[in-house]
Amino acid sequence: MSLAPLPNYIAGIWLPATSTATTPVFNPSTGETIAACPVGNTADADAAIAAATAAFPAWRDTPPVDRARVFFRYRHLVEQNFERLTALISREHGKTAVEAKGDLHRGLENIEYACGIPSLLMGDTLENIARGVDCETMNQPLGVCVGITPFNFPAMVPLWMYPLALACGNTFVLKPSEKVPLTAIALVELLAEAGLPKGVLNLIHGGKAVVDTLLTHPSVKAISFVGSTPIARYIHETATRHGKRVQANGGAKNYIVVMPDADMGKTVENLATAAFGCAGERCMAGSTALVVGSAASKLLPDLITAARSITVGPTDRAAQPHMGAVITAAHRDRVSELVSTGESEGANILADGRGLHVTDAPAGFYFGPTIIDNIESHMALAREEVFGPVLNVMRMDDLDAAIETANKSSFGNGAAIFTNSGLAAREFKHRVKAGMVGINVGVPATMAMFPFTGWDDSFFGDLHIQGKEAVQFYTRQKVVSTRWFSEGVGDVWKK
Ligand code: NAD
Repeated sequence: MSLAPLPNYIAGIWLPATSTATTPVFNPSTGETIAACPVGNTADADAAIAAATAAFPAWRDTPPVDRARVFFRYRHLVEQNFERLTALISREHGKTAVEAKGDLHRGLENIEYACGIPSLLMGDTLENIARGVDCETMNQPLGVCVGITPFNFPAMVPLWMYPLALACGNTFVLKPSEKVPLTAIALVELLAEAGLPKGVLNLIHGGKAVVDTLLTHPSVKAISFVGSTPIARYIHETATRHGKRVQANGGAKNYIVVMPDADMGKTVENLATAAFGCAGERCMAGSTALVVGSAASKLLPDLITAARSITVGPTDRAAQPHMGAVITAAHRDRVSELVSTGESEGANILADGRGLHVTDAPAGFYFGPTIIDNIESHMALAREEVFGPVLNVMRMDDLDAAIETANKSSFGNGAAIFTNSGLAAREFKHRVKAGMVGINVGVPATMAMFPFTGWDDSFFGDLHIQGKEAVQFYTRQKVVSTRWFSEGVGDVWKK
């Protein structure tokens, strides 16, 4: 039976896309096709931008406290629907229930941050910048903003974007990942229920044609993007060339240094979570362990045991495994190919997740936890983002060598160190080239009040997603200097 294409949400109405072409949305746990996502075209994007443009003047002039109230109601509705939403995340993404809750919790924190918009938007004033002249700054919205999101956090990443953009007084067009569009639809429905006026938030599905229209349309003022590095670079180049403000988060390769003095029990626990959590499909996944000196013999036996004890299986039912499937069969095959290439280049496989068969879900897209030792810098596994449950191990003589190796990466998202030495930790945080650093924290992903600070090929733009930087991104400052002439006014205020 063919599935009806998912609708777009334009000017407060769920409408069919103008073209009938679709791509399949899978349940990765079972391999079953659960929805059909429209490929979309320019006409869909134009309609969504027109709706957002029309809604902007009234929304811009809605008092910030009233805009915040919509997000207080939204927060409540998302909480009320928490179980339903997390089940949807697991169904279309393959995450475990615990991971889906984490995804939505991180998103909720961004809604909560947006509730504080009356304080966040406040400007500055200085009386008497010259005799009789006062000066004030005002933070005003930009207009129509766009969000283009990846598959790996179906709730959190869209919620990184539109709550704050809207709270600032902008209107918005969301283009969710064609692989996980169902969570985005459910989240948009709830915001309409919270009382957001029609046209303020629009959702359109699609691929390159839709994205290209959004990047180049004269009415669009800003683009928030999260996805892989080649697309992030393309988004940044194309949209800035068309005069837009852009923040584009890209891919990553995150290094975790293990020093010989680390608490090995805790390090094993944290490293396994960092590498295999969310099946390694996290931009902050700890995908390479830089193991210093004698740390290797203390760490690896227990780490291998930990990886082998991780249960893998379907996450769309009551009994939960530790880890779910990866997003598609094609992605599983790519991860498998990278591991095989590493093996042929001389790397040593300590735990092998290739060819994993899950008996009660034989058509699911499974790849087991994998640890590969003796990785060297020239290997594809060392350079490319794998985005699967694969942990590289590189042996290092000392901390200097580990920092140097991490710093050679073209990416700069996250880096962490496990140690009991304050001096080693201090040296590491000072010298390592990454935007988010963990000291005995395996996944130092930032929360809503802090910017998500990728560097180098992990970020293209100036102002990051989340926190005060995001408020700056979604507003522009006006500085007003005011003077009232007293000559000839007489005693008007005395009358
Ligand atoms: P992706 O780059 O394939 O897709 C992201 C978005 O771009 C999707 O909405 C997709 O439809 C669109 N897109 C894809 N190809 C396009 C093209 N040629 N032209 C225009 N638009 C296009 O990424 P993905 O596979 O969905 O997500 C995984 C990637 O996202 C990983 O690289 C991961 O590291 C990265 N990511 C980064 C962060 C971060 O904050 N740095 C967070 C989450 C995910």
